[in-house]
Amino acid sequence: MPGAEVALTLDVEGDFGSAALRGVDEALPRLLDALDARAIPATLFVVGDAARARPAAIRDAVARGHAVASHSMTHPALSRCSRARQRAELADSRAALEDVTGAPCLGFRAPYFDLPRDLGPLLEEAGYAWSSSKAPFSPVALYRHLGQTRGAHALPGSRVREFPVPGLLGLPIPEGLSYRRLFRPLLALRPRPPRVFYLHPYELLDRVEDFALPRWMRPFVTLGQGRAASALLWRSVDAWRGAGARFVTLPGGGT
Ligand SMILES: [Zn+2]
Repeated sequence: MPGAEVALTLDVEGDFGSAALRGVDEALPRLLDALDARAIPATLFVVGDAARARPAAIRDAVARGHAVASHSMTHPALSRCSRARQRAELADSRAALEDVTGAPCLGFRAPYFDLPRDLGPLLEEAGYAWSSSKAPFSPVALYRHLGQTRGAHALPGSRVREFPVPGLLGLPIPEGLSYRRLFRPLLALRPRPPRVFYLHPYELLDRVEDFALPRWMRPFVTLGQGRAASALLWRSVDAWRGAGARFVTLPGGGT
């Protein structure tokens, strides 16, 4: 039986909701070095503003063989945006990323996994072919996508293919590094390799300097930050590889 496909995805944006880009400047190059050493390709969901501010870092990732897709232009919660603003976030980020990379930008991830139910047709209209914008839980979208994260599917009213972030052990806990840090004791149960896994480069920073998320989130978001997060990431990746996982970029083989 062929091994499971795993897509490692990196959300490239300002540090902890701020406009600071230490994660891009300091953590991303180290992360890419470690991925390259393992010959693992990643998919980067990049905020348009961050790409405009750090074009060389994004081009470097492309030159190393990683894929780049959009994470909106300014990282708003899309369900709180007007229709016009949603359209602008989709179109502007796509243009900015194509400008920086020189390649078509066909994929999208909604900030905070806050994908409005009717965004499929807008994504298609803006030229996107696929998305990875659903997770079992989000601090903004809450449990809106519960029961919709088990496999790839078309977004309603469109041909846009969605590759959701699945739940950890089938629980409504997204398969991301931040949640693995938070629910670490569950990892003793050896969850299967996830189809899609996500993290932010800034999670690997040893010091938290800029924090602009709601204050109550700080102890949760920064728990096991830096070196511990890095160790947990590579332990997880190496365990999946040991279990026969093959690392692919999205949209992969379209399964
Ligand atoms: Zn994000």
